[in-house]
Amino acid sequence: MFEYAPAPESRSVVDLKPSYGLFIGGDFVEPGDGGSFKSINPASEEALAEVAEAGPGDVDRAVRAARRAYDEVWGPMPGRDRAKYLFRIARIIQERARELAVLESLDNGKPIRESRDVDIPLVAAHFFYYAGWADKLGHAGLGPNPRPLGVAGQVIPWNFPLLMLAWKIAPALATGNTVVLKPAETTPLTALLFAEICQQADLPPGVVNIVTGAGATGQALVEHDGVAKVAFTGSTDVGRQIARSVAGTRKRLTLELGGKAANIVFDDAPVDQAVEGIVNGIFFNQGHVCCAGSRLLVQESVYDEVLAALKRRMAQLRVGDPLDKNTDVGAINSAAQLERIRTLTEIGSAEGAQRWSPPCELPARGFWFAPTIFTGVSQTHRIARDEIFGPVLSVLTFRTPAEAVEKANNTPYGLSAGIWTDKGSRILWMADRLRAGVVWANTFNKFDPTSPFGGFKESGYGREGGRHGLEAYLDV
Ligand code: NAD
Repeated sequence: MFEYAPAPESRSVVDLKPSYGLFIGGDFVEPGDGGSFKSINPASEEALAEVAEAGPGDVDRAVRAARRAYDEVWGPMPGRDRAKYLFRIARIIQERARELAVLESLDNGKPIRESRDVDIPLVAAHFFYYAGWADKLGHAGLGPNPRPLGVAGQVIPWNFPLLMLAWKIAPALATGNTVVLKPAETTPLTALLFAEICQQADLPPGVVNIVTGAGATGQALVEHDGVAKVAFTGSTDVGRQIARSVAGTRKRLTLELGGKAANIVFDDAPVDQAVEGIVNGIFFNQGHVCCAGSRLLVQESVYDEVLAALKRRMAQLRVGDPLDKNTDVGAINSAAQLERIRTLTEIGSAEGAQRWSPPCELPARGFWFAPTIFTGVSQTHRIARDEIFGPVLSVLTFRTPAEAVEKANNTPYGLSAGIWTDKGSRILWMADRLRAGVVWANTFNKFDPTSPFGGFKESGYGREGGRHGLEAYLDV
């Protein structure tokens, strides 16, 4: 094996300010009743910037600004004019892609290779895609004259900060709603750069408002009377709380929650290709992926072969500096998330599963976790049931397709699944029976703005993306 020379992306392209206010009514403003917090680089624990924390009064200001923009400008604006703004935003995102990618990797810890080649291109693609719908809503199959709902209150997690923002904001604006969005407290910086992009695009003030803060800010937003639609992506526990608080109101709600996906490898699958898919399924974005293939189901007859190839491949993964273009696995997003991963993996060992990681040197500072697999896992183990949200794979086996279906569906979640086989008929047979919103065949973690995404059971309800994603923001 040869050593790679360091190939760090320069961070000079990012112009970080020491502190950021709230983005309300088209301007950055100081919080009235909130405080502030630091956003840190999880790869170095260095504080990147001081960010405003919005209190309930600030959230109220943001919702009022959004309502005014809805009533006076954005709601009445013809779809073709809204589309021009969305196309403009999409183009600016492309022009500033490098800056956005570097900032995303700094604030989140994900490898630059992923923020540059996956996150940011998909963000731009989302805005382009929904820009195209803005003047065609009457032809979306949702009735002749679907109407916007009003102000959308949107709360997003930290694993794909800007991509989750795009999934929320692009369809909301295309359909004529205005938004107040709260990014996650550990990754607010690309949302604030997006606010600058809204200014650069001359988006009318108040159409997009960004309120930063933690859970209390999110709660104030989803409980605000002026919000007509709540869109939440995050953990199932918080999703449940939000569903309770919205029940009995006139608010519309979509929830994109956790997952514990099965990635199923049959004995006729091309092993090397399947191993790439397994690695992508669980080590992409450090496994901080709601639809991660965190349970590997391997047919017993190829178990030894697949495991040996997987371990060989894992030994090649490069863990380290997120800004290095050779890095495969970056930093864990926060100390709290690292602690959660550690706790669950310790439970895995205590329950009797066998743990393996390739030899790898982790940096001294920052939050790191080596790619890990557990074998000898049974369905009752916590590591086979709970979402770990880290680079940790639980390996189980099966003998027949029916047993694979049974085990794959044996989870409270239902967000995604993967099938690896040479036979098209088996793919269709399996896909019919898997209770998962997305089923990938001979690939994994592929995303496209034209394709709806969402869950079954405790993975949530409603769909984002595609034509289906319009419906969540329209009164049809
Ligand atoms: P989280 O639920 O703790 O936080 C998500 C967001 O909700 C954050 O912005 C947080 O500040 C906010 N929040 C916390 N408490 C709140 C409250 N009471 N009311 C309103 N908002 C509140 O989740 P997380 O740890 O940031 O993200 C990880 C989770 O997100 C995982 O479970 C993952 O599976 C899920 N996720 C799902 C999808 C999907 O599309 N289904 C995508 C990405 C992540």
